[in-house]
Amino acid sequence: MTMQFVFLGPPGVGKGTYASRAGPQLGIPHISTGDIFRAEVKSGSELGNRVKGIMDSGGLVSDKIVIEVLKKRLGQEDARKGFILDGFPRTIPQAEALDGVTSINAVMNIDLPEDIIVEKISARRICRNCGDLYNVADINRNGIRMPPMLPKVEGKCDKCGGELYQRDDDKVDVVKERLEAYRKQTSPLIDYYRDKRILIDFRPTAGPDEMVPKIVELLKQHGL
Ligand SMILES: [Zn+2]
Repeated sequence: MTMQFVFLGPPGVGKGTYASRAGPQLGIPHISTGDIFRAEVKSGSELGNRVKGIMDSGGLVSDKIVIEVLKKRLGQEDARKGFILDGFPRTIPQAEALDGVTSINAVMNIDLPEDIIVEKISARRICRNCGDLYNVADINRNGIRMPPMLPKVEGKCDKCGGELYQRDDDKVDVVKERLEAYRKQTSPLIDYYRDKRILIDFRPTAGPDEMVPKIVELLKQHGL
């Protein structure tokens, strides 16, 4: 059985969390493009050095190089049964390039209503000291139930006692801009995969503990 999947989703929907937890349960790696780029650069390979050169000079890594790095990663032993791609593709040309390298069995399109995402992200708090995450939003409406993840003492990290703060990126106006940019860039991609009849629309209605098993079940049905 091959299980070659792509995860799509707007910032704040929890896509990375779902992908990183569903992968091990299916026995396939969660491949985040950010991570493989860092790994390739760190390996000191010829390709890695080229990527480092581009990033150091503030340039954008071309689709051609992204595909090259990705192809190398997908060819590794642990990805023989399949993989979950997270963070790629983001555009139609990237999706077409990916189709030239491998065939995707299913695309998990994880999404939530805009207002809920805004509420969820703007309620995120991070420990200044250890990076631990908390969420002060208590969402319970329209069939969606996401309880808060509160620290035991308000404003303080449970793990280290550090101060909790809100990142600039998580402020309401910035979140709205990020969402708009995502919709603009990714909606053609959603149509692209829908036309190929491999898109699975998924709306989380609770936290990851309850949602990950559902995602794993759906993916099992779509492996080939
Ligand atoms: Zn902390």
